[in-house]
Amino acid sequence: MSKQKGILFDATLCIGCGACYEGCKQKNKLTQTNKDFLSDHLSDDTYTTIELYGDIYARKLCMHCDEPTCVSVCPVGAFSKSETGAVVYDGNKCIGCRYCMQACPHKVPRYKWETAKPVICKCNMCDERIKIGKIPACAEACPTEATLFGDLDDIIQVAKRRIKENKRNYYPHIYGLEEAGGSHVLILSPVPFEKLGYTPHLPKEPMPMLTMNAMDKIPPIIGVGGLFLGGMFWLTKRKNQIAREEAGKKKELQNHESR
Ligand code: SF4
Ligand code: SF4
Ligand code: SF4
Repeated sequence: MSKQKGILFDATLCIGCGACYEGCKQKNKLTQTNKDFLSDHLSDDTYTTIELYGDIYARKLCMHCDEPTCVSVCPVGAFSKSETGAVVYDGNKCIGCRYCMQACPHKVPRYKWETAKPVICKCNMCDERIKIGKIPACAEACPTEATLFGDLDDIIQVAKRRIKENKRNYYPHIYGLEEAGGSHVLILSPVPFEKLGYTPHLPKEPMPMLTMNAMDKIPPIIGVGGLFLGGMFWLTKRKNQIAREEAGKKKELQNHESR
């Protein structure tokens, strides 16, 4: 897989049919609640929602950040960035600390409280489907191309073109392109994004400081384990830093050798 993928949601094209919502439920074997999907919320049983603001429908799902805070805070590496660009979760590694829930700037991850084994629930951009050449179930189900899947570069171009060619229809901004360092889910809207419930005023930079603040806010639910996890966090951070440094050195060496 060479190119990074992404999803474009265009609120100006969404007719609120709920096909994406149902497609996601079906694909992830979640409880079907097709009667009143507009009042549903993200939960351990719902990975994407359709919400109505006046006469505009807005989808919510994991934004698949470029530099995800859920990945950076997880002390055991249960979250990771897939080669597709999706941010994926491995329940076998999860210890249930819920740092990811505290740290996510878009308030996406949800916890499954009913099970003894810790489980965090969120959209995984249908990573396993993408890897075998299919498209995410929500994009496949959408009848209007309000939800569009493709190479990230291509959907960025589509988003820019739609705004340029139809200035009167769009608020002149692509949500997710720069917010919190950028993401693989991009949103177009006819109105300012906060009017559709998207998190406003996110900085353009990735959010290491938010990560740090989130760590400060973790309640002492895990007692002595908290100290252990704090240590693990720094170890994970250091491990990532070393990996980055080593990758840089390797690249330098390769460049040098190819000269
Ligand atoms: S939106 Fe939240 S859960 Fe999704 S990748 Fe970004 S930080 Fe992680
Ligand atoms: S990409 Fe897959 S998991 Fe994510 S909202 Fe769409 S159907 Fe659900
Ligand atoms: S399937 Fe497409 S048109 Fe229907 S609610 Fe979802 S995004 Fe909107």
